[in-house]
Amino acid sequence: MSAEQSLAIIIRTIEFSETSLIVTLFSRELGKLSAIAKGARRPKGPFEGSLDLLSVCRVVVICKRSDALDLLTEAKLHRRFRGAERSLERVYAGYYLAELLRLLTDDYDPHPEVYDLTTTTLNEIDGMGDVATAVLFFEAQLLRMIGHAALTDRCTECGGDVDSSLSRMPFSLLSGGVVCKPCSNRQSGVLSIRQTAIKELRRLFSVDANLQTRVPSHLYSELRAVMSRYIQTIVGNVPRTQSLLPDSMRTEPTE
Ligand SMILES: [Zn+2]
Repeated sequence: MSAEQSLAIIIRTIEFSETSLIVTLFSRELGKLSAIAKGARRPKGPFEGSLDLLSVCRVVVICKRSDALDLLTEAKLHRRFRGAERSLERVYAGYYLAELLRLLTDDYDPHPEVYDLTTTTLNEIDGMGDVATAVLFFEAQLLRMIGHAALTDRCTECGGDVDSSLSRMPFSLLSGGVVCKPCSNRQSGVLSIRQTAIKELRRLFSVDANLQTRVPSHLYSELRAVMSRYIQTIVGNVPRTQSLLPDSMRTEPTE
């Protein structure tokens, strides 16, 4: 057993007993972990409202690294998620980020760059940023960081050239990117995507993608659909909060 300190985002809380919570944290230094927070449900308990969903805290955890739950002994609030003060759309987008972190990362597998991506995206979502763009950016960058970037330059099945002069291209959910015509005929789960949307996907998945670059609104529903289905294929399930994401994009850059 050792006491570890880290910055962490609260990604789930479950009532455990009359007075305690089980908290799932996505921490910068330790990765994802679940810990029991004793007394967290008491009105004047030791955590004083720092354990709300999507709060960023500096935590101290006693790690058991066994079947027993870790013990959360301190959580000092750094930043509260304020999406609820603006709109339901922002709240749901925050919940979705938390769900993706739970589904797509492993316990005790630290990804500081994923942590940083999450805090940056949350700032955008609970500020004035475009929610639809921020969620797509987060998904693409998260997938890239954990080794699931969608590939759009060559056939992801045979490595051969793809015809980028076509107006639409086959995108294979299973092989995670574009495929050539012969390969697409041999596969199921192939979507036909406009070339302009493929170009936008390439930008979103690239290392130097920028959160401030708005996704073109005429491509949004196509990008939303392919990203949702690609993530469902990787997870093997439909994330519960995915249906709460914006289904169209605001045309005005401000609210
Ligand atoms: Zn091929």
